[in-house]
Amino acid sequence: MKKLFVNHEACIGCGACVAIDQEHFDFNDEGLSEVIKNENIDSEDVKNAISSCPTNAISYVDDDKKCNCKDCNCGDNCECGDECNCENCHK
Ligand code: SF4
Repeated sequence: MKKLFVNHEACIGCGACVAIDQEHFDFNDEGLSEVIKNENIDSEDVKNAISSCPTNAISYVDDDKKCNCKDCNCGDNCECGDECNCENCHK
């Protein structure tokens, strides 16, 4: 299933996505953007938020995809999901 993903390694907390689409994005306790909803993710607001991100931190990911991360030891049974900030998991 396709989901929205914010790469916290890339997010600089500029707030553009939150300003554009408060339905799907909000700040977490660290001041970085976090996905708060995964329904209606093909909306124009989501697309505008993705294209407005200055660091390209927002993307669609395949939730069924197995982990390819070399930096953690979770292997093919990775359950890090949206909690994982590693880019390798979401290429
Ligand atoms: S637009 Fe990009 S860099 Fe700015 S808060 Fe959203 S995800 Fe982070």
